[in-house]
Amino acid sequence: MIEFQNVHKSFGELKVLDDLNLHVEPGEKLALIGPSGSGKTTILRILMTLETLSSGRIIVDGDYLWHEEKGGRLVVASDAHLHKMRNGIGMVFQHFNLFPHLTAIQNIEQPQILVRKTSKIEAREKAMELLGLVGLSDKQNHFPHELSGGQQQRVAIARSLAMDPKIMLFDEVTSALDPELVDEVLNVLRRLAADSDTTMLTVTHEMHFARDFADRVLFFDKGKIVEAGKPEEIFTHPKEERTRNFLSKFI
Ligand code: ADP
Repeated sequence: MIEFQNVHKSFGELKVLDDLNLHVEPGEKLALIGPSGSGKTTILRILMTLETLSSGRIIVDGDYLWHEEKGGRLVVASDAHLHKMRNGIGMVFQHFNLFPHLTAIQNIEQPQILVRKTSKIEAREKAMELLGLVGLSDKQNHFPHELSGGQQQRVAIARSLAMDPKIMLFDEVTSALDPELVDEVLNVLRRLAADSDTTMLTVTHEMHFARDFADRVLFFDKGKIVEAGKPEEIFTHPKEERTRNFLSKFI
């Protein structure tokens, strides 16, 4: 579903991704862990077409991201191509970014109607179903300011799911929440990961959650994948000194 081939990314002198190679199977759930500044969020932002790459290739669902093939040659992608690629990907950020003047259910309906041209009836039906999935059926007519941070984040997750993305990206979705609200959001994501065929990547500092969520955990440091493996391998028997050092801070 996703292939990074020799991807480099720099901001000026700063090397953020250093010859990254990554292969993600359809339906796979990945947790990206590692120290701040190691390049995890940049990977999600590149996939979401919010950030370019400096060199290398990325293929998403059989098509080039950031490039397109024209007359047998790879060229920098047109806006139309990027738009098409972005359409298959949903991203949930640290900050919920709900539309403040729309209710919970309208927040989930609106993108379907505007972007997907879904009928109002269908959009409402799907929004109701997704509000149920994130445990907020009783809050459908509340505005964002009438919801807790955890509830707002659950609406944001439902809003992304409503677009039927092939890939879902979660960027530290609980790091802006009060501690007592973290679990309700992570539990929604745990359930989603278990029940859904969508390919999912999450950047997280919640190690217990990463263990439940992921089929594979990637430990990053300085723009490289230092170690990757099943959660039980990474968390119980990390091979690399840098992984052990990092994880020891969470015990
Ligand atoms: P992580 O998610 O692992 O904390 P990031 O991918 O957010 O790391 O960032 C990697 C590095 O790139 C950091 O040092 C960060 O400050 C830098 N960085 C990220 N975005 C930009 C940008 N737009 N301009 C300059 N530097 C950036």
